[in-house]
Amino acid sequence: MKILLAASEVVPFAKTGGLADVAGALPLALEDLGQEVIIAMPYYKVIQNSKFKIQKLKADVSYAIIGRNIKVYFIENNTYFNRDGLYGDKTGDYNDNLDRFSFYCKKTLQLLKEINFKADIIHCHDWQSALIPLYLKAHYADDPFFKDIKTVLTVHNIGYQGLFPAQEFSKLGLDWKLFSMQGLEFYGQINILKGGMVFSDIINTVSPTYSKEIKTKEFGFGLEGVLNQRNDSVFGVLNGLDYSVWNPDNDRFIAKNYSCGNLEDKYKNKADLQKICNLPQKANIPLFGIVSRLAEQKGFDLLSFGIDKICKMNLQLVILGTGDLKYHVLLENMVKKYPKVISLHLKFDDGLAHKIYAGSDIFLMPSKYEPCGLGQMISLRYGTIPLVFKTGGLADTVTEDNGFVFDVYKKEALIKTMNKAINAFGKKRNWKELILRAMQYNFSWVESAKKYIELYVKAKS
Ligand code: ADP
Repeated sequence: MKILLAASEVVPFAKTGGLADVAGALPLALEDLGQEVIIAMPYYKVIQNSKFKIQKLKADVSYAIIGRNIKVYFIENNTYFNRDGLYGDKTGDYNDNLDRFSFYCKKTLQLLKEINFKADIIHCHDWQSALIPLYLKAHYADDPFFKDIKTVLTVHNIGYQGLFPAQEFSKLGLDWKLFSMQGLEFYGQINILKGGMVFSDIINTVSPTYSKEIKTKEFGFGLEGVLNQRNDSVFGVLNGLDYSVWNPDNDRFIAKNYSCGNLEDKYKNKADLQKICNLPQKANIPLFGIVSRLAEQKGFDLLSFGIDKICKMNLQLVILGTGDLKYHVLLENMVKKYPKVISLHLKFDDGLAHKIYAGSDIFLMPSKYEPCGLGQMISLRYGTIPLVFKTGGLADTVTEDNGFVFDVYKKEALIKTMNKAINAFGKKRNWKELILRAMQYNFSWVESAKKYIELYVKAKS
């Protein structure tokens, strides 16, 4: 099949979150499975200034190659994309984001014809590329070149919808008829993601459980009605993990490599982490690790309600992350109060993240909602037992067989489950068996890519 993957960020060129990881890894896995894939993304300043080998195709399109022969096309427009941020700066989102991403979507469709890539599938991701299914139907319905193209829209987090004031609608170049309940209108505003959901052939999200949750009022952020109307076209394919990056056996960031065969070496990483973090170097105290955005979505409301109690438990806690200022302040105060218990790192630090995954005993991820989540999959591979709230992708990957799960979103339930984990940690033989089981779990991209191909086939049928 010929597939165009349209995403506003793609590893290794530009990244602000998990979307870029998926958009970078899925095409490689699809190529390995014999599919013909190209990618289209905006030509941001960070790419223009990068070390990648980029070639000019025409005045306003350049390209690079990833994998064996996947062309990544960069849509150029200096006014729109030659800026420091992808979507905004520290004052907030850029106020011309509708112009920027509608331009990108229109140009992406034009590009297909210019390079004569008669795609079977256009796979869009999140609101930034969600206008493509609309433009396809609104502008190209009678064009034989486009007539057989089907669209799949993957939603990575339904909390981000691309909302704009109604006055901007004329900028889209679409018939005002589409500004309706059955189209892009959403409580008087333009909702780009909604438009994409209405017009794409298949809607997908990044885990089976999240695909069910977003059809409910609690998780749907107002779009549950649209999803229920399209119930038969909504799917959930779990993201994969890139095991070439996340593998304790050859991870160059960690103090000592290890695998199932030499688990004792995992504890050298624990000692190393305790040292770096200025925590007492004790092997028999359970070390909980967190690598996360400091946001309510990630469970920091629960953690902050319970933190004083948690710090009095028999544990150590290493936290790496940045996010809401209120959590920065709260955690800094906790470090002052319990310096031998908490070690706090308010930054983005890939190397330290690897050390935390390797050196901790338990990985804490009590997300309130979690479309897929990577942290729990990484920690499983490192034999660091995940403790999660039962939601979204966490519910699909962590069970009592490989971790600890609580299913009532209350601080009491979190603390009770942490106590359960601490007790289990004390039973050395069982704990070792648990680690070995956890390390066997495999969430590779190959399996996810096969599921995506099934979705593409479904879209074509
Ligand atoms: P998100 O909702 O933030 O995308 P995921 O669990 O899907 O959450 O992925 C987050 C990824 O970012 C993981 O690989 C995690 O290790 C990494 N990460 C998050 N915060 C930091 C940080 N402060 N430093 C280094 N890596 C981080």
